[in-house]
Amino acid sequence: MRYFITTTIPYVNADPHIGFLWELLIADYVARFQKSKGNEVRFIAGTDENGLKIAQAAESIGKPTKDFVDEYVQKFFDLNTQFEISIDDFIRTTEKRHKKGVYKLWNLCKKNGDIYEDTYEGLYCVGCEDFYRTEDLIDGKCPDHKKEPELIKEKNYFFRLKKYLPEIARLVKEDKIRILPDIKKQEVLRMIASGDIGDLSISRSKERSRGWGIPVEGDENQMVYVWFDALTNYISALDFGEENSKKFETYWNNAQVWQFLGKNVLKFHALYWPAMLLSAGQKTPDVLHVHEFVTNEGEKMSKSLGNVVAPKDLLGKYDVNITRYYFAKQNPFADFNFSFHAFEQTAEGELKKEIGNFVSRVFGILKKAPDSISLEKIVLQEEIEKAEAAAIASSERGEFHVALQEIYQLVKRANKFIDEKQLWKGGEETEYAALLKIISLIAFWGQVFSPQKAKRIHDALNLKPGVKTFENKRIAFDPLF
Ligand SMILES: [Zn+2]
Repeated sequence: MRYFITTTIPYVNADPHIGFLWELLIADYVARFQKSKGNEVRFIAGTDENGLKIAQAAESIGKPTKDFVDEYVQKFFDLNTQFEISIDDFIRTTEKRHKKGVYKLWNLCKKNGDIYEDTYEGLYCVGCEDFYRTEDLIDGKCPDHKKEPELIKEKNYFFRLKKYLPEIARLVKEDKIRILPDIKKQEVLRMIASGDIGDLSISRSKERSRGWGIPVEGDENQMVYVWFDALTNYISALDFGEENSKKFETYWNNAQVWQFLGKNVLKFHALYWPAMLLSAGQKTPDVLHVHEFVTNEGEKMSKSLGNVVAPKDLLGKYDVNITRYYFAKQNPFADFNFSFHAFEQTAEGELKKEIGNFVSRVFGILKKAPDSISLEKIVLQEEIEKAEAAAIASSERGEFHVALQEIYQLVKRANKFIDEKQLWKGGEETEYAALLKIISLIAFWGQVFSPQKAKRIHDALNLKPGVKTFENKRIAFDPLF
């Protein structure tokens, strides 16, 4: 099986916050899990550099927009190295390959008669880069940005979104576009059924865009709407703009396409994006994995509210493996209430006292074990198999917090078992085999959560799937945490 994995591309008008880091990590867990199973994976991230919001932010500090974005892009790019995100490519929407992709997609939609000109009048929130209906505002203000939207009237190009809604409803209902979790699938179906979704304005006047962005091909007074532009990144990164792109054929048409996104951009990814693809005669994504937000004391963290915990607040302070584990512990489909206290408790309790301790004890116990241990018969077999099956099933759905809980409970059980049997004094072959089986599960899921730590276990024990006898080399092993 082959996988193509994407995250959304953040706007580069402020420093990264941990909400986006969480998304990168969730996608990375899936990428690493599938790779560990032997699947082929292509995983991309990138940055959204066009749009009015960015032009305005640069203007407000008197910087040329290009210099402004270059500076921020680096910070987003660095997250991948800092937190060991295994991306294969990084796409910037100011790149040539992206512009080519946008033109191709636009032209295909146009050829199909799905793009037309009309006058637009509406309430526009610059923060959201989206129009609002009066009834969706709270006290006349954008519910996200708590600012009054501007009344705007201008000539725009429109996309026949409405035409594709019945087809999208069918694809979503039949899980051809599988939306995780189910509650978000129902939300999308309700959006379509409401009849409130009309055609989509997909261009802005050049003047209002400050000339920053991708001009409409053949009409230089209009710029491509930032969402039409941004969504295309998922395929422009596969050289969709080129004739017969092999990358696109391999990783879009012949792969499971998993797209990770936050709940605030569900409409764009579940309606606009599939409609654009359908209009252009292209395949729609296979899975949309929709996560909730990271909150701080129960409030949404956002640039405009100024309560952001930044990834850089974690760097240097905590081992990256601990960060990756703590984030993986969170249910992606529920709000993640970030707390430094819980973070430190996880590091001390689960990681050091239970998992780290278990690994150290096993290496100690192996010193007294025979030279070779048959792995065919083990004690605690039923418990181990049950935990493994549950961990695999939840990981396949991108719910790693369940997998992690299963493995953690198993390790706790194994630590008790070591105490009960006083295995440091020596034990049965089937007992050693069980410890080795559990440590191999830690090493397998460790590849997903804490790649460096997992590699140390792998290198020391050389436990490979399918191996029936373990050669005991009695290796000295430094504590994991
Ligand atoms: Zn807004």
